[in-house]
Amino acid sequence: MKLRKSLTSIAFACLMAFMASAAYAAPPKYVFFFLGDGMSSTQIQATEAYLTQVNGGSAQEAADLLLPQNRLNMSKMPVAGLQTTFDAHALMTDSASSATAFACGIKTLSGVIGMNDTKDTSYKSVAQLAKEQGKKVGVISSVSLDHATPAAYYASVPSRGNMNDICVQMANTGYEFFGGGGLAKPTAPTDVWALLAANGYEVLNTKADIEDLLTNPRDKVVAINPVLPGSAAMPYAIDKPEENLSLAEITNVAIKVLSANDGHGRGFFLMVEGGKIDWAGHANDAVANIGDMIDFDNAVGMALEFYRAHPRDTLIVVTGDHETGGMTIGHATTGYKAYYEKLLGQTKSYENFQANDWVPHKTLMAPGVCGSHLGVDNLATDSAMINLMQTVFGLDYYSLNDYQKEKLEDAYDKSMCGTNDNSGAENTFLYSGYEPIVVTLTHILNENASIGWTSYSHTGVPVPVFAQGAEARNFYGFYDNTDIAKKLARIMGIKQTLPIVK
Ligand SMILES: [Zn+2]
Repeated sequence: MKLRKSLTSIAFACLMAFMASAAYAAPPKYVFFFLGDGMSSTQIQATEAYLTQVNGGSAQEAADLLLPQNRLNMSKMPVAGLQTTFDAHALMTDSASSATAFACGIKTLSGVIGMNDTKDTSYKSVAQLAKEQGKKVGVISSVSLDHATPAAYYASVPSRGNMNDICVQMANTGYEFFGGGGLAKPTAPTDVWALLAANGYEVLNTKADIEDLLTNPRDKVVAINPVLPGSAAMPYAIDKPEENLSLAEITNVAIKVLSANDGHGRGFFLMVEGGKIDWAGHANDAVANIGDMIDFDNAVGMALEFYRAHPRDTLIVVTGDHETGGMTIGHATTGYKAYYEKLLGQTKSYENFQANDWVPHKTLMAPGVCGSHLGVDNLATDSAMINLMQTVFGLDYYSLNDYQKEKLEDAYDKSMCGTNDNSGAENTFLYSGYEPIVVTLTHILNENASIGWTSYSHTGVPVPVFAQGAEARNFYGFYDNTDIAKKLARIMGIKQTLPIVK
């Protein structure tokens, strides 16, 4: 009887201790959410295989692939899970509906941000809820700050195309930090620059001014990289100009701003998007894709550095919103062999090549090549172009097989002269909306290395989730993308259950 009584009291004491730890475990003060747009397991494996080759190993050897220096920060995290990415009415989501899922915990339609699929109700994001808790909030993207993914953390709009409306909502958030790309629609109908100034925001757009925040942190800052080649997005990481900050450098600045005064004593929430992983996926350029993957993972490294100084109070979650391009590890022409060393010869992105090499070359050559010469082997006699293929993509034209030469010739004719002997359907399949010669060059280089592409759009495969730090264990398992917002809100100690109406 006495033994039974003491066992009961021990059990009771254990139960109380468990309840106390469950109920009173302090929520992590510092929460990082990293989102690789268009990043799934393929992009992760391709990047690690590329790093293996860059670091002097072979992408065919397990002993090399497993070396720590050839692994990404994210894939070394102790917790991993897998999430489904479909949206309310599509197996293949877009970035607006997936970001709404991560940010607000609700399934919606492609194109819709922070609202339900009938576009009549707006929802709060985890960033807004963190702000209501008194945390500082930061939003970073390598594409424009009014693009779909960052927008879901502060805006509600029925269409992601309403970018001026999105920027207006951004200027009214009161968030402490925005950084990376610029604004795509800042002036009409509303002058958002004026609104930002009226709301007390400082807009910085030189490297020196942005880096000044490292030693002189201020709240309410919009830190925009000086060089934005198109759509107010940062250049691809492999094209990074000296004047710009990398995604990792911007993330480091954001950490300094948000952690100043310990985030008003309440910590912070920081969302970081690697947005052009997706754009390179759409364009089927593996090396540009991998370059932005490395840049994104280096930004994760900045959060890990912060974590090591605050291990009990920091949570880092890293995931993607969907796969882009139907990228595969392996190709019909290479079977079980990988030749990643072939990728090392590419020196710029397709975007940079197109703007700075192809367009000037075409301007020079088109009058002579097109017209009466059409139909002959124009590319084989264009030695300047053959030279460009070698210097920019590391592609030796003379070592290509006849099928690849024929594909290049068709693409060259289409790009140079606007016509070739393919059917319309064949051209759509081969080039989608991309410049035929440019996308054909990356296709051939990528397939020679053993990387395939099956789409110019998003695909529906589940996407890995990685986590490290306080409460990271919540991210084990197989769950839906909406569960990520719900888990983050619960972990941050938000009492209501998502989705929460605005
Ligand atoms: Zn996309």
